[in-house]
Amino acid sequence: MNYDSSPIAAIATAPGRGGIGVVRVSGKNLEAVMSAVCGTTALQPRHATYLPFRNADGSIIDQGLALYFKAPHSYTGEDVLELQGHGGPVVMQMLLARCLEAGADLDLRLAQPGEFTHRAFLNNKLDLAQAEAVADLIEASTEAAAKSASESLSGVFSKAIHELVEKVIHLRMLVEATLDFPEEEIDFLEKSDARGQLERIRANLAEIFENASQGALLRDGLNVVLAGQPNVGKSSLLNALAGADVAIVTPIAGTTRDKVTETIQMEGIPLNIIDTAGIRDAGDEVERIGIERTWGEVRKADVIVHLLDASRGPTRADEEIVGRFPPNVPVLRIWNKIDLSGHKPGVDCMSDATHIYLSAAERRGIDLLRTELLRVAGWQQTGESRFLARERHLLALKAAREHLDMAAEYVVQGSQTSDQALDLLAEELRIAQERLNSITGEFSSDDLLGVIFSRFCIGK
Ligand code: GDP
Ligand code: ZN
Repeated sequence: MNYDSSPIAAIATAPGRGGIGVVRVSGKNLEAVMSAVCGTTALQPRHATYLPFRNADGSIIDQGLALYFKAPHSYTGEDVLELQGHGGPVVMQMLLARCLEAGADLDLRLAQPGEFTHRAFLNNKLDLAQAEAVADLIEASTEAAAKSASESLSGVFSKAIHELVEKVIHLRMLVEATLDFPEEEIDFLEKSDARGQLERIRANLAEIFENASQGALLRDGLNVVLAGQPNVGKSSLLNALAGADVAIVTPIAGTTRDKVTETIQMEGIPLNIIDTAGIRDAGDEVERIGIERTWGEVRKADVIVHLLDASRGPTRADEEIVGRFPPNVPVLRIWNKIDLSGHKPGVDCMSDATHIYLSAAERRGIDLLRTELLRVAGWQQTGESRFLARERHLLALKAAREHLDMAAEYVVQGSQTSDQALDLLAEELRIAQERLNSITGEFSSDDLLGVIFSRFCIGK
């Protein structure tokens, strides 16, 4: 991506028809565009002015509201002009084209995906975790996910990270000072309770990690594979799960048609349910490829729900399926149709799997399954708000934790002090801080920024 500083423009509203549509322009010297399109350069910042948007020949494209935000008080931190017209695709395209034409001398160009937000980041309007939260808020598939994205966007997550970094910096200063005045080494670290400080930092990090993992669950959901022979009741179970207070939401993006994936939500967590109806002996090559792909999904599952018919018991085909389950994925074994078999609804934790007895058709025991799914996911029902975190954040937090764990060992050794242990301690703390900083983007490489912002939609 090329982030030159020339002004940029894009349609900021979603494609398609809508009540209104917005063309957004950001950069320096926007007066030329303003005067050409709006017929004035005297737009009062942050005030809406109703006026006609005009072509070069004076004909009217649309009438609407012009809004001007003077730098730095704008989304991007640059001067921003927003033109709100009628939300039709053609009229929006015409308005955008007219802006680009009017700004040709300024090198006004079409914005790349995420470029407005990238500029907001570069101009310190948002840190990286907040910028990511913008995309996550737009893409949130459940209310709970949207709520925690907006929490992260408002900076709660970033603030927690900053406070943690401050504590690490404080401890680093102590250690560095001790290295500089070796005579007083042991005393200094002990008097300042370096060990206690480090313990509090680690406890604080553990808390943030816990909260962030819950948030990541809200964002990415849980991949559930529904396995079992035909007619054991997979579709019925899916309906029963979706039927309670759960709603069917849109299928997740990027899934191919050949495997049936449905997303339902449970307590705001998206459950991506993959139906493995296709796991059978392959008839032909095409089917074989499809089945292999399904097994690929099974290997990526967070939990496997294996259905059996309680009135008939396991078959050889079931044994074959079980034999192919990846060893590290937890299995919930569902004995369905207990209305026929006479079992009572219940949960039985056995060494091979957790067994659950239920009836999908009669909707008995479904809550047991829901509770077990949430337990496997590690979900905790707290009233607290969560940070909507990404895998990237979790990895950074984990790395920081590892380095703080190492640091803790050197602090213990520090009482028999070797200079070497102190050096290593200082180094571990430095790396831990660096990892934490990468979350808010303090020391992020251009590569990372490119990856993050290119996933945005255009106009954002
Ligand atoms: P799938 O092929 O695994 O998706 O199974 P379906 O959900 O399509 O169910 C197959 C048949 O079993 C249907 O006739 C269902 O009505 C029936 N069935 C599903 N669950 C139950 C149950 O709990 N009790 C009884 N008696 N029948 C069930
Ligand atoms: Zn089915």
